[in-house]
Amino acid sequence: MADKHYSFFDGVVKNFEKAAPYTGLTPGLLQQIKECNSILALKFPVRLNDDGDVEVIEAYRVQHSNHRMPTKGGIRYSMDVNQDEVMALASLMTYKCAVIGVPFGGAKGGVKIDAKKYTPAQLERITRRYTAELVRKNFIGPGIDVPAPDYGTGPREMAWIMDTYMTLKHGELDGAGCVTGKPVEQNGIVGRADATGRGVFYGLREAMSYEEDMKKYGLTTGTKGKTMVIQGMGNVGSYTGLISIAEGGIKVIGVAEYEGSIHDPNGIDIAALLEFRKITGSIVGFPGTTTLENRTAAMELDCDILVPAALENQINIENAGRIKAKIIAEAANGPVTPEAEEILLKRGCLIIPDMYINAGGVTVSYFEWLKNLSHSTFGHLEKRFTSSRYNNLVDLILQMTGKEMTPAQREFLTSGADELDLVRSGLEESMITAYKGIRDTWQADSNIKDMRTAAFVYAIKKIGADYLSMGIWP
Ligand code: GLU
Repeated sequence: MADKHYSFFDGVVKNFEKAAPYTGLTPGLLQQIKECNSILALKFPVRLNDDGDVEVIEAYRVQHSNHRMPTKGGIRYSMDVNQDEVMALASLMTYKCAVIGVPFGGAKGGVKIDAKKYTPAQLERITRRYTAELVRKNFIGPGIDVPAPDYGTGPREMAWIMDTYMTLKHGELDGAGCVTGKPVEQNGIVGRADATGRGVFYGLREAMSYEEDMKKYGLTTGTKGKTMVIQGMGNVGSYTGLISIAEGGIKVIGVAEYEGSIHDPNGIDIAALLEFRKITGSIVGFPGTTTLENRTAAMELDCDILVPAALENQINIENAGRIKAKIIAEAANGPVTPEAEEILLKRGCLIIPDMYINAGGVTVSYFEWLKNLSHSTFGHLEKRFTSSRYNNLVDLILQMTGKEMTPAQREFLTSGADELDLVRSGLEESMITAYKGIRDTWQADSNIKDMRTAAFVYAIKKIGADYLSMGIWP
């Protein structure tokens, strides 16, 4: 098990410092980039039952970097929340936003509760009180700090946050942009739910398209037929599995979850597994799979790609030596400790870092925020215009050539882009462009030995350039 006393923030700093010498920035500026700018630690009371006592809740919001505004990052509900963890997650958001090219600083929030122990009504009271605290301390707003879902939270909580904010800030025109990851019908955006998992797949597909890179890890190019193991069947892990199978022809041969881990060398049907878990409450016993000895054992299976999609510090000094995967795609934030990374790199494993591979969520959050600020839907204005223009073009071509076309072919060629098309196109473009940026940075300096360091250098240089051009004032 991961060491409980391990400092996650120290781990992020360690990785930052490994990259710092290759950025060309001064020590003072590097320190400014590295530190957390504002830390809000809260203890607030919530009356959970009408006739009961109050419960005092511990919570945080950390803004790591204000070099771009607003700051951005999810809110986590978990008993493991502490200041160190939220600081680490907030700083990862800064580098993530820089790597993927969205114009935000990094932030993160955490509420120390076991969400499973409360009723929806109680969770609503906790969420609204936490939001009210953020409003009071000026730690939330479409131009200040914009939360989103993270471990233990989802669209439901985001709707409560938006409603609380808009009630307290009545009349604020852009109020809906105070939080992202909202339900689609409550100022959310289509394609946000699967965005992180979809981004993981796009990132993997991009990484696996370079022949000279894949050769180094004993792999051929392409995702088709490659084997994958996933730890965590939450939002990120489940969509990574579903999309990797459906769009990449990947075989998911192992799944690890809280209740146990399972293996099937012929490939696990993730859609059916999710249904099975909904009914039985467990992945264990899923037909056709073997149950392994413990809940992390699947992570040690021989596979091409391991996707840790749960929590931080899951691959650590204790189990790193037993991990056999050729590629580790960090769908979770901070799943590999720096000590474990050393072991894995020595063995010749490619670690695709969190700040890149799980950036799909914040990328689509950015689209949602833009949508909220524009008070419109992407594609609404041009969809019909594009469609009729292509229809005219097709008519002309058919007339000139005397050929025919099936209705399905016409539909394929002439449909205008709707919001989902545009969201996916934007996400794909972001993942591909960022990968090229990281790869170019890595190739340009032979001192850089791993992809995480390359991603840090790429991010830190961008943030540094912002500070250098803006200056420091007052
Ligand atoms: N919590 C997610 C992350 O760690 C999403 C953040 C966001 O959308 O702002 O990247």
